[in-house]
Amino acid sequence: MPTEPDTGYDPDLGRKFIFVTGGVMSGLGKGITAASTGRLLANAGFDVTAVKVDPYLNVDAGTMNPYEHGEVYVLKDGGEVDLDLGNYERFLGVDMTSDHNITTGKTYQHVIEKERAGDYLGKTVQIIPHVTDDIKRRIREAADGSDVCIVEIGGTVGDIESMPFLESLRQFAHEEDDDDFLLTHVTLVPNSKNGEQKTKPTQHSVKELRSIGLQPDILVGRNEEHLEQATKAKIAQFCDVPTEAVFSNPDVEDIYHVPLMVEDEGLDEYVMARLGLIGEALPKSERDNSWRELVTRERDGSVDIALVGKYALEDAYMSIYEALKHAGLEQGVDVNVLWVDSDEMRDTHTERLREADGIVVPGGFGSRGTGGKIEAIRYAREHDVPFLGLCLGFQMAVVEHARNILGWEGAHSAEIDPETPYPVIDLLPEQYDLQDLGGTMRLGAHDTDIQADSLAADVYGADSCTERHRHRYEVNPEYIDELEAGDMVFSGKAGNRMEIVERTDHPFFLGTQFHPEFRSRPDRASPPFVGLVDAVLEQVAKKEIQA
Ligand code: GLN
Repeated sequence: MPTEPDTGYDPDLGRKFIFVTGGVMSGLGKGITAASTGRLLANAGFDVTAVKVDPYLNVDAGTMNPYEHGEVYVLKDGGEVDLDLGNYERFLGVDMTSDHNITTGKTYQHVIEKERAGDYLGKTVQIIPHVTDDIKRRIREAADGSDVCIVEIGGTVGDIESMPFLESLRQFAHEEDDDDFLLTHVTLVPNSKNGEQKTKPTQHSVKELRSIGLQPDILVGRNEEHLEQATKAKIAQFCDVPTEAVFSNPDVEDIYHVPLMVEDEGLDEYVMARLGLIGEALPKSERDNSWRELVTRERDGSVDIALVGKYALEDAYMSIYEALKHAGLEQGVDVNVLWVDSDEMRDTHTERLREADGIVVPGGFGSRGTGGKIEAIRYAREHDVPFLGLCLGFQMAVVEHARNILGWEGAHSAEIDPETPYPVIDLLPEQYDLQDLGGTMRLGAHDTDIQADSLAADVYGADSCTERHRHRYEVNPEYIDELEAGDMVFSGKAGNRMEIVERTDHPFFLGTQFHPEFRSRPDRASPPFVGLVDAVLEQVAKKEIQA
């Protein structure tokens, strides 16, 4: 039984763990399936949390290129994590911390630091047990305080990188009581040329799991359609699970419908039965039904919002797409995002920008595409198009004003043009001193004071807000008075840091140094995004009256 002496963990706590692994190939949406199961358990009255395991060597996602990995999601404690954590926060309605994203890099770094400090008392430090103990400790600590913890192992079973995690899982299964541990394996069930559902890849991937001592309790098969009964029976037979433990995961047009689909499949009930939770779950008629009501609510028409970014990849701006969707849910419309390449502003993309009812300029690092972003902001300002600038988008709105309203030729952010004669965006003086030490990024949740009677006050309906940050540069305090002399106002501040900018000569022009998209939830849309969609609807109505 327990192979793990030093975690101090008491299995009698009765905490439930649902591990989720993936087979055959990546990108099957196992995170969404896992998060959806979690949502349903939360609806049934349980406190649910999640852990995402990323088997790469990066310590965190902060240094990763969005083009390869999608956006870097920022948590309230400043953790820069995998974008899947964003899905868990949105689906479960909880705030997580960096401890909920475990990477190989984080684990090894800690074990090696302990080794250097002599904490292993001269022992040979090895993957088993030292790394696996550390992994198990992290998972259990992250689960602390919840009834059910969903642990998603990134990557695909069989990858070299995931081995230490799967070994930890194997040990975990032995240490926990049977009804506290559940392994769900999500695999691909492809169609043959003549449309037959093929189970062989699933069989092979379960064989792979078994070869490392893991037997799945539940199998979820990804196919465009529902799995046929015969397919389920075959998978059950070859993979040694009951037929009732094989579930479909067909394509749905909206990921917010996955919880509904999972519920219709009965996956949540099976999980609860298997974990001995049925007695504690709310009766069906008393469960929280608000998610279903929200995502199936009738919507009245749609609006087009241009997103002017440099990555032709939805995942690179995932939380912005989501926040726009949430604002649409609140306003009762669908929001179509028109992607505008900030590098290609000269041709087709300019037309797309002109077709849009509203414009969002997102965050970013480095110079590529900033010219196009400034052009898009100018267009929004001159044509009264509702505009929202986020982080770099906020900074470029200040640059656009300095150049085109104040006539400061060559004004820029010192990040992009270190030689600019007007560094309206720069590091704060105290940051220059810190720069050598590397730690200059301002991360996580910080408070902003909002000026009364401003657009920002209107949008937030409050005199302060707390939003997540991820930036190095700031509005240069030396230029603030001059920048505000025109129709530009800094209506949100945190000490000498400018947090919100708006224009008084425009129907809706708002920029935020922070990233409100990271706090947006389906049932708690982010105020600046709601404000944007609201302003768009007003403008569209006005145009219709004029026409
Ligand atoms: N690159 C800018 C800065 O570091 C903006 C960062 C961002 O948009 N997240 O301040």
